[in-house]
Amino acid sequence: MQTYLIRTFGCQMNKHDSERVAGLLNEMGLSPVADAPEADVVVFMTCCVRENADERLRGQVRSLKSVKQARPGQIIAVGGCIGQRDGQELLRQIPHIDVVFGTHNIAHLPALISSAASQRQPQVEVMPESGGFASDLPTQREHRWHAWVPITIGCDNFCSYCVVPYVRGREHSRATEVIAEEVRRLVAEGVREVTLLGQNVNSYGRDLYGEPRFAEVLRAVANTGVSRIRFATSHPKDLSEGTITAMAEIPAVMPYLHLPVQSGSDRVLAAMNRHYTQADYLELVSRIRSAVPGIAISTDIIVGFPGESDADFQETMNVVAAGHFDQAFTFIYSPREGTPAARMAGQVPREVSQVRFDRLVELVQASALENTIPLLGQTVPVLVEGTSKRDDSMLAGRAPNNKMVHAPVPGGHTPEEFVGRIVDVEIEDAQTWFVAGHLAGTNP
Ligand code: SAH
Ligand code: SF4
Repeated sequence: MQTYLIRTFGCQMNKHDSERVAGLLNEMGLSPVADAPEADVVVFMTCCVRENADERLRGQVRSLKSVKQARPGQIIAVGGCIGQRDGQELLRQIPHIDVVFGTHNIAHLPALISSAASQRQPQVEVMPESGGFASDLPTQREHRWHAWVPITIGCDNFCSYCVVPYVRGREHSRATEVIAEEVRRLVAEGVREVTLLGQNVNSYGRDLYGEPRFAEVLRAVANTGVSRIRFATSHPKDLSEGTITAMAEIPAVMPYLHLPVQSGSDRVLAAMNRHYTQADYLELVSRIRSAVPGIAISTDIIVGFPGESDADFQETMNVVAAGHFDQAFTFIYSPREGTPAARMAGQVPREVSQVRFDRLVELVQASALENTIPLLGQTVPVLVEGTSKRDDSMLAGRAPNNKMVHAPVPGGHTPEEFVGRIVDVEIEDAQTWFVAGHLAGTNP
């Protein structure tokens, strides 16, 4: 075995886990390739939050059957949430899979791959609960300047539509000193930005300290000297005054917040088990906006939750209009087996959801554009990530508020000289999902 390919679905936690898988496979002496026909090991890091991610995974794995026939000995491994949820059952459904591993079994992946290869027998390992954090494993980070840092795993919230608590298990926090120590090491390795990860970072520490201590994590991580701190996700019911103060006071904490609202209807929010109303949510947004001027707020929204009426949906449109979101990730409700919502009366027909969804997306785009226009004429510090996907003569990076910023590579320079650096860009053009300008002052 010499080569590997990892395909990642779903959330940032999976992206982080994939970097750990890459680290382990590198340690086995394998190197990454871009296409499945060249790979001796193909690893799928999967998501089961919505049905379409589930279906897409099955389609991709099934289509590898002929690839595998052409490359005898190829190992196909399925991890992440579908591995955790389905275990052995996956082998029955798709017999050419060689390894199924759960979300807590990443450390054993090399051993499972070796056993599958030497014994020519499929291997399945799914542990029900965490034995530790993947962060303690080697890593092959996608970017040398950025690192994902999980601070909690699992979730205790049981939103009625969501499968995550069943698949990822109860919430566990890492000790604050362990997190800070890891970030200190990352900074020494050249990392400029960390993204702290948890299903609900705002309840961080409850299991360890008996009370939430997310603000303390922000302060401890800021003390490492890392340039930029981001985090996701925040549950509105647990976002404390202390966290808002920490966001306002700590310069390294970026003025950007992902705060999923899910719905604007109080009735639907109650049925979702979210523990806040539209008024609570908007009041929280307004407190955050006054504490952190210029902050960008993004959200997640589900349309077509069971029982959602036209009037309920109108409340979602109202909350989007009032929330002035920079971005909203919008989803059509997808019933997930085992969750309370899947058994609720009033499942909304797909056609109805689709019409609502399209109206919502239009409003979200208008709101995003409205938020980029005030950036015109401003000079903002941008952490350069690489070049624009469509034009490799354009640098691409993020402003503090997470807006994508493009600027031409200055004459006589290469893009690589700028990657991982924070440069000033004067903004002269605003589009819905990015702004563009040119490097200002003494940057090069
Ligand atoms: N813990 C995070 C992320 C959970 S999954 C949070 O609470 O925000 C990411 C998003 O997927 C959720 O915010 C929700 O908007 C969406 N989602 C989860 N389950 C879903 C389902 N069954 N159908 C449609 N969207 C869903
Ligand atoms: Fe799912 Fe709710 Fe937990 Fe997020 S907070 S992972 S939506 S149960």
